[in-house]
Amino acid sequence: MFNLYTQSQLSRLLLKWYDCSRRDLPWRVPQGSAHSTRPDPYYVLVSELMLQQTQVATVIPYFRRFLQAFPTVDKLAQADTQQVLRLWQGLGYYRRANNLQATARAIISEHHGKIPSDLETLLKLPGVGRYTAGAIASIAFDRRVPILDGNVARVLCRLDAVESDPREKTTLMKLWLKAGQILPSKRVGDFNSALMELGATVCTPRNPACRRCPLQKMCQAFAKQIQDRIPPPRKAKTIPTCHRHVLCICKGKRWLIEQRPAKGRWAGMWQFVTVEASEAIPPGKRLGQIKHALTHRLYQFDVWLISTGTSFSLPVSENPRKWVKLAELHQYPLPRPHQQVAAMLAKSDHAPAV
Ligand code: SF4
Repeated sequence: MFNLYTQSQLSRLLLKWYDCSRRDLPWRVPQGSAHSTRPDPYYVLVSELMLQQTQVATVIPYFRRFLQAFPTVDKLAQADTQQVLRLWQGLGYYRRANNLQATARAIISEHHGKIPSDLETLLKLPGVGRYTAGAIASIAFDRRVPILDGNVARVLCRLDAVESDPREKTTLMKLWLKAGQILPSKRVGDFNSALMELGATVCTPRNPACRRCPLQKMCQAFAKQIQDRIPPPRKAKTIPTCHRHVLCICKGKRWLIEQRPAKGRWAGMWQFVTVEASEAIPPGKRLGQIKHALTHRLYQFDVWLISTGTSFSLPVSENPRKWVKLAELHQYPLPRPHQQVAAMLAKSDHAPAV
């Protein structure tokens, strides 16, 4: 990699642009002290976990509700995990919610309730990887450490006209190195935020707005007019499909739900009784099919209304089960496909009144 600009040029232009163009985001509010302009480390921690794999616009209402329920690390550490999951419901990647609470508990028990500011200690917290640790250390504490997410990687590749795939290990290592080399000595958190902001709002994956980019004069991809092919598109992958049966079993006005195991996908959440598609199921009427795409697999749920007549026998399970009314389901964290099943039942002619 090479470049035709100096670090000071880059940070001067980028910070000037950021000071005028930064978005007003709820986690960027400075912490209470009159001497600090930096955001509250707890806000940074929560927002960075929520923003993993998720768009800013989606995260904002979740962040507000979450902070209202758990305004401090201490409150989050003491909270009922079911409530944490309920507030996370719909945001996806639920392991992040479990990790966030585990991190809050570790901060209380091992760090006297204070979020650590150094990279090595942050990296030991559950769910905190190199990117998140760098974001907390730099944005909340102005530590001179780099960050590299998809937005930053794209900007750095385009600035230097790097055409190799930033998802590949060798390029990734060079990009981390580069992200460290270009850090200014002051306002590191703002500089890192500005790079991410530029990638999210100007140097976008498709049709980057180069005309209003503060870095246009130093951008090699723009000079060569190759910005549209950097980074190269993802290689198409075959995604496996997992088939499941969802059994909607009703007794009186109550439906049978079960809690998922404490580990794995949707850990600790609740669902209608779900079995592998290869398993024999009791007689019933097919209500429809729900497809749910994740990054690495596609789920296909066939939804059945099970008749609880004389030949009915409940599939065996070690997970806790409960009979609940549809109107009570909001008290239980449900993965999105099962929220859809509930909506299907609410509309179904066969569902008893709640
Ligand atoms: Fe991205 Fe265009 Fe700016 Fe280059 S000039 S950094 S391609 S927005």
